[in-house]
Amino acid sequence: MRQFHYKFHSVAVVMALFGTAGCIDSLPADDDNLFAATISITEGFETGSKTSYAATDVTLGTGTWNLNDALIGSTASDVKTGTKAGRLRGNGHLTMRFDHVTGASTVTVHHAKFGSDAAGSWGLFASRDQGRTWTQVGSAIATTTRSFATATFTVNASGKIRFDLRKLDGGANRIDIDDVTISDFVGGRGGGAGASLSKHTTLGIPSPTSTSDPRSFLSVKSGYVLSYNSDRKVPNWVSWELDASELGSVNRQDDFRPDDTLPANLPQAALADYVNSGFDRGHMCPSGDRTQTIAANSQTFLLSNMVPQAANNNRGPWEELEAECRNLAGAGKQLFIVAGGAFSNTSKPIGSGVSVPDQTFKVVVVLDAGQGVSGVTANTRVIGVMMPNDDSQISVVTNWHDFRVPVDTIEAMTGDDFLSDVDPAVQAAVEARVDHQ
Ligand code: MN
Ligand code: MN
Repeated sequence: MRQFHYKFHSVAVVMALFGTAGCIDSLPADDDNLFAATISITEGFETGSKTSYAATDVTLGTGTWNLNDALIGSTASDVKTGTKAGRLRGNGHLTMRFDHVTGASTVTVHHAKFGSDAAGSWGLFASRDQGRTWTQVGSAIATTTRSFATATFTVNASGKIRFDLRKLDGGANRIDIDDVTISDFVGGRGGGAGASLSKHTTLGIPSPTSTSDPRSFLSVKSGYVLSYNSDRKVPNWVSWELDASELGSVNRQDDFRPDDTLPANLPQAALADYVNSGFDRGHMCPSGDRTQTIAANSQTFLLSNMVPQAANNNRGPWEELEAECRNLAGAGKQLFIVAGGAFSNTSKPIGSGVSVPDQTFKVVVVLDAGQGVSGVTANTRVIGVMMPNDDSQISVVTNWHDFRVPVDTIEAMTGDDFLSDVDPAVQAAVEARVDHQ
C-alpha cells in the first residue's frame, strides 16, 4: 500500500456517472481550492497469497478482496509490479469486500497479457451499496500488450464506494492486473462528501482524510467523526452534530483510554503521557454532549478525541462555550461543530510525543433542526473561536466571547476548509464574520 498526494489544477470535464445526488455536474476550471488535495490507496497484491482460481476471500494490503476465477500470480509469466499481481481468467473477478469511504475521483489500473496468451478485455464496476448492485464505470478495456498499460477511469463519486474488476471476454486467455489506485473524492462544492460520510460531517469534511493515511486517518464513529494524526497522537479535527436528542442524564463515565478502533500499528497516546504533564486530557467532542446513553458518553473518553489542553482554557472559556452550545441544542437548535488544535513548528510534546496545540479552535454552525447543508445561508449564526492553549496566556475566568474570530482565520491557521459542502458564496459570507451575539 502506498500513499501519495495529488493535486487537481484543472478539472474541466466531469462525468456524472451515477446521475444521482452525491455527484457533481460541473466544475469551474483552474480552481485549486475545490480539491485542495486528494489521497489515494493502491492495491499491489503483494501481501496476499492465492494460488488456485476457486473463489475465496484474500486479505490484501488495502483490505479483503474476493478473487473468483482469479488468483495472485507470481510466476515468470505474470506481468507484475514487485513480485505479485492479480491474475484473471474466464469471467474472473477481483472484487473489493470493503468500502473506500472517502469516495473516488479516479481509479487507475495496470494491466497486461499473461505469458503468451491472446488479447482480452475487462471492465471496472462500482458499487455504492456494499456490493448489492454494480454499475460499469466507463468502457471495457482491451488488454493487448505483454507489458503494463495503464487504464484510467473517471468516477467522481462521493461517499462509500467499492470496485470490482471483471474479465469480460470469457476466454481462456489470462490477464494480469496490478497497482489498482483509488484516488479519494473529498471536499468541494456540492460534492456532498460530508453528508454521505456521516451526519456528523453534514456540512463537509474539513480536510482530506482516509483510512489509508496515518497522518489524517479517518475514523467514523456513532457519536462523532475524526481525522487522527498519528505523528502528533492527537486528532487533526473532530466533527459532530449536537441536538437535544443527544442530551440526557447519563453520568460522566471517565473511562479515558486509547482508541481500540484505530489500527494497532497506528501510534497513539497512552494514559501515562498525560500524567504530570501539566495538561488536561481535553475532550474535543465533550462528554456533556453525549449523555443519552452510557455507550455514547464512554465513546467521548477515547484518547483520539483528546488533545493536551491547558487547564485555564479547558476549564474556563472552552467549557463555557461547550455549555452555551448545549443551551442552544436544548432550545431546539441543531449544531454542527468542529474542534481541534492549531500547531506550529515550535509546538512542544508531552509524554512519548503527544503534541500540544498552541491554540484550540472551534467552529459552531447553529441551524434549526433538520435543515441540513442547504439550511446554511449568509445569515446563519456561525461561531469561530481560537483560544490560547497556555495557562500564562489565558485566564480561567475570561469570557469565551473574547476569543471569537472569523472562521477564515481558523482556516488560515489550520489549512482546513470548514463548511466545505456549503455554497462557496455563503461560506465566504459567514466565514468572514465574527459572531456578535
Ligand atoms: Mn474539556
Ligand atoms: Mn470553508
